[in-house]
Amino acid sequence: MPVPYRRKSASRARMRRSHDALKAVGSTICSNCGEPVLPHHVCRACGFYKGEQVIGAGADANVEEEAEAAAE
Ligand SMILES: [Zn+2]
Repeated sequence: MPVPYRRKSASRARMRRSHDALKAVGSTICSNCGEPVLPHHVCRACGFYKGEQVIGAGADANVEEEAEAAAE
């Protein structure tokens, strides 16, 4: 198995690892209930996404309404 020709210096290793830090994830505010929400994710508190109920009470009603509208 090939191995590195030379040991990397502590300075080189630290320079490489200067890019390894994790960044904090961003968050937005739910337009329906005001809870903090991950971007491009359904709100865990109320089940809204892009101004529509997609999970929980009323989600099925919305789907049926859209199906009826598409059929017409
Ligand atoms: Zn919400």
